Amino acid sequence: GSTIGILGGGQLGRMLALAAARLGLKCHVYDPAADCPAAQVADRHTAAPYDDAAALEAFGRAVDVITYEFENIPTAALDLLGGLAPIRPGRRALEVSQDRMTEKDFLSGLGLATAPYADIPDLAALEAALARTGTPAILKTRRFGYDGKGQVRIKDASEAAAAFAALKGAPAILEGFVDFSCEISVIGARATDGAVACFDPGENVHRDGILHTTTVPAKIPPRLRTDAVLLAGRILSALDYVGVMGVELFVTASGLVVNEIAPRVHNSGHWTQTGCAICQFEQHVRAVAGWPLGRAERHSDVEMLNLIGDDVERIAEFAADGATAIHLYGKAEARPGRKMGHVNRILLPGS
Ligand code: ATP
Ligand code: MG
Ligand code: MG
Repeated sequence: GSTIGILGGGQLGRMLALAAARLGLKCHVYDPAADCPAAQVADRHTAAPYDDAAALEAFGRAVDVITYEFENIPTAALDLLGGLAPIRPGRRALEVSQDRMTEKDFLSGLGLATAPYADIPDLAALEAALARTGTPAILKTRRFGYDGKGQVRIKDASEAAAAFAALKGAPAILEGFVDFSCEISVIGARATDGAVACFDPGENVHRDGILHTTTVPAKIPPRLRTDAVLLAGRILSALDYVGVMGVELFVTASGLVVNEIAPRVHNSGHWTQTGCAICQFEQHVRAVAGWPLGRAERHSDVEMLNLIGDDVERIAEFAADGATAIHLYGKAEARPGRKMGHVNRILLPGS
């Protein structure tokens, strides 16, 4: 048999491990936390930090392929693991997506539209960039941001110094504000043989910087649906990618603008568990294990709702609705802003 190694044991790792089990594959999770969500369902768990060379080496020798559920894996860990088993998706995808500057340069190099952007190493660079781009704008840390963390909105150039100080000297990027009508994302997959399959774009609504709902189909013209899928395919091929990727897009009057890419299964792809024969987690496991991809057609309209913090107390209500699939992540404590689970509600005709 084949063993999949997963770096990171949060909810994404957990749902990957569940999908691997369905395919008869073994799963070995690497995550520092003893009680992480994925460890509860995986065959094996190494609870060690990402800089523990001995633990990483033992993990790398025990698995046949390595994948991951987060993009901020330390380079030294990747260097060590890369000599022991194939890492899928590969190093190039990680390099590109770990740093918002590298990512924007890569995307614009492909001829894709992004927000206007500038590298901000210091306050003088921020002032110069604001003079060019104008306001509103968003200052973001180049690395480690997620769920809207590490971002400051700038409404007026006079706020430059305060905004720069708020990021505590972290290397940053300034983005011009994109005037979008809605946000969508495409979850795409590419196999070892280069085959590509993309799920239907979903429409995303955020609340307090965190994804709140994804609804499929997105209410966009068919032409943009095609643009979104073709654009995702180009990104996957350019990176010689293997696995599932999330591509976040802004819909604007002049077409699609790429916000960011994530080299992994993505929260905005959870609807595929209920809307498709092969969900994003099975698709990712198929791809990294060298299997053929499943088809990505959507058989149902779905709304995915994230259960953040106390939202999880509504679970009885969701359970009472026979058309809602429930996914809980096995996290003991419902802290504010913490993703506790999600529900996928089938949108029945006329509902
Ligand atoms: P994620 O949790 O998706 O990784 P993140 O912390 O990486 O989020 P972004 O996706 O960059 O953050 O931004 C979060 C949200 O802020 C976006 O979904 C969008 O609503 C808004 N936003 C970000 N950049 C811009 C921009 N340049 N113009 C307009 N809105 C933006
Ligand atoms: Mg992000
Ligand atoms: Mg985002």
